[in-house]
Amino acid sequence: MKKIMLITGASRGIGAATARLAAARGYAVCVNYLKNRAAADAVVADIEAAGGQALAIRADVAEEAEVVELFNCVDRQLGTLTALVNNAGILETQMRVDEMDAARLNRILVANVTSCFLCAREAVRRMSTKHGGSGGAIVNVSSAASRIGSAGEYVDYAASKGAVDTLTIGLSREVAEEGIRVNAVRPGFIYTDIHASGGEPERVDRVKAFVPMKRGGQPEEVANAILWLLSDEASYATGTFIDLAGGR
Ligand code: NAP
Repeated sequence: MKKIMLITGASRGIGAATARLAAARGYAVCVNYLKNRAAADAVVADIEAAGGQALAIRADVAEEAEVVELFNCVDRQLGTLTALVNNAGILETQMRVDEMDAARLNRILVANVTSCFLCAREAVRRMSTKHGGSGGAIVNVSSAASRIGSAGEYVDYAASKGAVDTLTIGLSREVAEEGIRVNAVRPGFIYTDIHASGGEPERVDRVKAFVPMKRGGQPEEVANAILWLLSDEASYATGTFIDLAGGR
């Protein structure tokens, strides 16, 4: 069966590393992005230069109609999906809970939680044997923040990742008999652009002293775990988590 993977938010960071590794492992890859077309095109160009197959598709995964169209595009242009990585996610400027307004909370929850539900729904409709599919695997990109809570920085973001953890457990049980495995990774401090959107581009270097391994992680170290969870080597793993946080 042809291996076809959709990675949300694959133009940069963990998603881009996952796209490159997936293509090297023989997947045809859909590189979803929101705004940064040049970055998405660069990921596709790297994959094609290495002999792989990839396609960049812009879609805001926080918008239901755009999610539906994204999956329809994958159907038309790559074929039947076998793997989904729910990776796209955001955080906002560091602040305490007593400073947060409803608009911010809703932006975080829609971008980090609703998006994962919508993409999971579309994937299940295609993969589930109940819907005539041939099975598949989903990996949600959660965060160590779901365990730790991110006090003083972004408890809203941490709570959204707690919801992603619960989605992982609940959905895994819902579709376990339908040929679909659902797992998650929980990265710690990884060197990507996301920290700049929280207002502190050098955050990983500031906090790495609190990590038992005394260093931040690289996106490729997260990608390796995602690819393992999606592979047949993880055939008996569902509803589970790989913590990639240097022992934190
Ligand atoms: P990043 O470098 O900021 O990249 C974010 C990616 O998501 C970009 O490709 C961006 O597209 C895309 N994106 C954002 N909102 C989107 C939307 N509504 N629709 C579609 N695409 C969207 O982030 P990252 O650090 O790689 O994070 C990836 C995931 O890992 C997130 O879920 C994050 O919460 C999680 N995580 C990261 C860390 C860390 O330390 N970096 C730790 C734990 C968990 P554009 O390029 O078009 O803007």
